[in-house]
Amino acid sequence: MNYDLHCHSTASDGMLTPTEVVQRAVEKGVDVLALTDHDTINGLAEAKQAAQDLPITLISGVEISIVWQDKNIHLSALNFDETNENLVNLLENQTALREQRAIQIAEKLAKAGIQNAYEGAKNLAEGEITRAHYARFLVEIGAVKSIEKAFKKYLGQGKSAYVKPMWCTMEEAIDTIHQAGGVINVAHPLRYKLTARWVRRLITAFKEAGGDGIEVSGCGQSRDQRQLLARWAEEFELYASVGSDFHYPTQWLDFGKDLILPSNCKPIWTLWES
Ligand code: AMP
Ligand code: MN
Ligand code: MN
Ligand code: MN
Repeated sequence: MNYDLHCHSTASDGMLTPTEVVQRAVEKGVDVLALTDHDTINGLAEAKQAAQDLPITLISGVEISIVWQDKNIHLSALNFDETNENLVNLLENQTALREQRAIQIAEKLAKAGIQNAYEGAKNLAEGEITRAHYARFLVEIGAVKSIEKAFKKYLGQGKSAYVKPMWCTMEEAIDTIHQAGGVINVAHPLRYKLTARWVRRLITAFKEAGGDGIEVSGCGQSRDQRQLLARWAEEFELYASVGSDFHYPTQWLDFGKDLILPSNCKPIWTLWES
C-alpha cells in the first residue's frame, strides 16, 4: 500500500483543485491519501467526492500553523471528525488570523514600494490566503524573478514584508485534534532552518504535549535525513508519517515519490487501521 499523507489543493496554496489532486494521486499509484491544506478543511468534501469513484482512500487532513517558542511550526493532523465543533472553531480563528496577517503583509509591501498586493494575492487565492500567494503575485508583477526570491527579499522571516504570526499554540492544536478523534504529527521537522538541538527541543515539547508522530519520509530528502528522522521517531516513541507536501507538479516532487519508511518506524496509520 502506498500512503501519501501531506498535500495541498486550491483550498490553500496548492495549484490543483481537490478533484485534480485526487486524480493525480491515483495516477501516481497512491492508495491512501490525506489532503492537508493550510488551516482549512474546505477542500475535503470535494476530495472525498472525487475519491468515491476511484481506487483510493481519502483520509481527512489539515496542516495547522502554530507558534512555538516564537517560531512558525506546522503540524499535520489526520483522520479526525471534520464536523467537530472545537476543530471548526479553531480553524475559523486561524482563517481570520490569516486574513489579518494578509492585510499587514500588504501594508508592509506598500511601504517597500509595491502597491495593491492584497488585491493581487487575493486574486490568486481561491481559498485560504498564504504567503505563497504573495510570492506568486510578486513574480507576476516582475518584482522578483522566482518564488524563492520573493521569500528571500520580502516574505521570509526578518525580511521587509514579514509579519510575525499569531497562530494557535501547540497544545491547542494537539488537544483539539485529539478531541476530534484524530492524530497529529510534526510536519517536515527538518524544514524550519533549526539546529538539531532545536528540532530535538521541538519534538520533546510535542511529545510532552501528547503529540502522536513526526513526518519521517518526504520528497527530495536524503537517506541520511530520513534515517535521522526515523531515529528520532524511535527515540521519542512517536509514530512515523509520510507525505510529499505536493503543491503542484515538479520534476522532483510528486505524489507518492520516494515515500519509504525505514523498518524501525511505527507507521502512523496503524493508529486508525488497527
Ligand atoms: P504561510 O503559511 O502563509 O506562512 O505560507 C507558507 C507557505 O509558503 C508554505 O507552506 C510554502 O508552501 C510556502 N513557502 C514558504 N517558504 C518558502 C520558500 N522559501 N520558497 C517557496 N515557498 C515557500
Ligand atoms: Mn504551502
Ligand atoms: Mn508546511
Ligand atoms: Mn504542507
